[in-house]
Amino acid sequence: MSAVLPEKTDKAGERTEPVLVAEGLVKRFGNFTAVDHVSFRVDKGTIIGFLGPNGAGKSTIIRMLCGLLTPTEGRAFVSGTDVAKDPETVRQHIGYMSQKFSLYGDLTVMENLRFFGGIYRVPRKVLPERIRFAVTMAGLDGRENALVSTLAGGWKQRLALGCAILHRPPVLFLDEPTSGVDPESRRRFWDLIHALSGEGVTIVVSTHYMDEAEYCDLLALINRGQLLALESPTALKKRNLGGTLLSIECADIGKALHLLEGQPGLLDLAAFGNAVHALIDPARTTPEQLFALLSGAHVPVDHIVPIEPSIDDIFVRMVGEARESQEGEPGRRAG
Ligand code: ADP
Repeated sequence: MSAVLPEKTDKAGERTEPVLVAEGLVKRFGNFTAVDHVSFRVDKGTIIGFLGPNGAGKSTIIRMLCGLLTPTEGRAFVSGTDVAKDPETVRQHIGYMSQKFSLYGDLTVMENLRFFGGIYRVPRKVLPERIRFAVTMAGLDGRENALVSTLAGGWKQRLALGCAILHRPPVLFLDEPTSGVDPESRRRFWDLIHALSGEGVTIVVSTHYMDEAEYCDLLALINRGQLLALESPTALKKRNLGGTLLSIECADIGKALHLLEGQPGLLDLAAFGNAVHALIDPARTTPEQLFALLSGAHVPVDHIVPIEPSIDDIFVRMVGEARESQEGEPGRRAG
């Protein structure tokens, strides 16, 4: 499935051009389709989050949008420029930061910044001021001469962001920027992302941390190379799952999943930490019946309560629906 946003208008009623456009993007590696007809449009200043498990195709889409990979089919536009036709112009308009941060560990903070300033062709006149901004943004004042290899993950991450925006790109691609970084640094990083978006920078950020979904304006749910949904977090959470979601806390999650699978009236099942989330058709089964089933099989149940679905639950359900429509049968997901 692909999703396309309705065209936006500005205050004067004029149609505004989207900053990012993907039109039917496909990427095949041999016989394997990593990205399968993905289309979307993103307006200026939007933070769009690519959510999906490892291997879903998030990086491949980002790399096609940046001009680092050529699409097998389809087209991508950044600020109106066709990425395939004019990758050099596109490169000047974007900042890119990958999970590995691309910093040089054996260079100092200052040397890295000067190096990236050169790569991005930042004019000499403004470079010192941009570097100062990046140092302060990263919280590295006083550590300009520290070797990057000696810095903790959160500092490296903020420095990498500082390097990626030295040339003031209107579009920023962040490919799993928060992977392996502690929660406090992740929060600080998101504050920076919001500040940039407030200045009109359009930001694409991929993550497999579902809790980060809430920080985005728009979410692209990606699974097996396909775009399952493109909506705001609020709209996604209002989606009707088609049943009642139960959280079942019990001692043996594995056994509970095994027992519940295939029960009449069970629409979806997923493990979430120390609980099973079960989507039921209330006309065909009840929490009491499930409680009796588990207790009868010597799986003590601590709690079984209806819950509001999280984005994680919605994602699991949408993946389930996609699989059912492809394979014709319901299944189970580990959340
Ligand atoms: P994600 O970023 O969501 O983790 P990726 O876009 O990195 O996913 O990968 C999507 C799929 O494409 C994976 O199955 C990956 O192994 C495959 N893939 C990515 N790059 C290549 C490549 N250069 N050659 C072959 N397969 C690739």
